[in-house]
Amino acid sequence: MDKNSMLYQDIESELLITREKIAERVRVLGQQITRDYHDRSLVAVSILKGSVLFFADLIREIDVPLTIDFMQASSYGDSTESSGFVHIKKDLDRSIEGKDILLVEDIVDSGRTLSYLKTMLKKRGAASIRIATLLDKPEGRQVEMEVDYVGFIIPNAFVVGYGLDYAERYRNIPDIGILRPKVYQQ
Ligand code: 5GP
Repeated sequence: MDKNSMLYQDIESELLITREKIAERVRVLGQQITRDYHDRSLVAVSILKGSVLFFADLIREIDVPLTIDFMQASSYGDSTESSGFVHIKKDLDRSIEGKDILLVEDIVDSGRTLSYLKTMLKKRGAASIRIATLLDKPEGRQVEMEVDYVGFIIPNAFVVGYGLDYAERYRNIPDIGILRPKVYQQ
């Protein structure tokens, strides 16, 4: 997508993370995960919908046998602030008992979503659970949460693009940018 696209008018003109930087970092994360799981196989779980672009790119950089599955938990709805409630909208298709799980998330903010999911999957008997997130907003943290693989640490702003939405839009922007406040203040 060209940067003159209409979609870019709704994000700050200085991009937070360009598509080139994303690709570079995803490659490094994939190599790190490959090293850590070199003698194992894993189940990569995409937390829908925001992580799908990151997920698709990341698993192609992980050179160990893996299967994929999907989960969806509600988060912000159409707002830019976390509701604090976690609701499972779509559960995994297969049992994870005895499996090594890599949860792939778009962004960790308060930490509530992942903390809830991790506890839930542990109870189901996963052998191990690690977390990979493309973005981390440590300033927003409300619950303690250990994240194993982080793409980028970002400031406390509302970002869209590369899978991340506002009211389901902007996911198809290839870069990551800060949403202009006029979009959600009108
Ligand atoms: P947490 O439970 O950590 O507060 O929220 C994580 C979820 O909130 C993410 O998966 C994402 O859906 C949403 N979220 C948090 N910050 C942002 C942001 O800056 N932009 C977008 N688009 N979603 C966000």
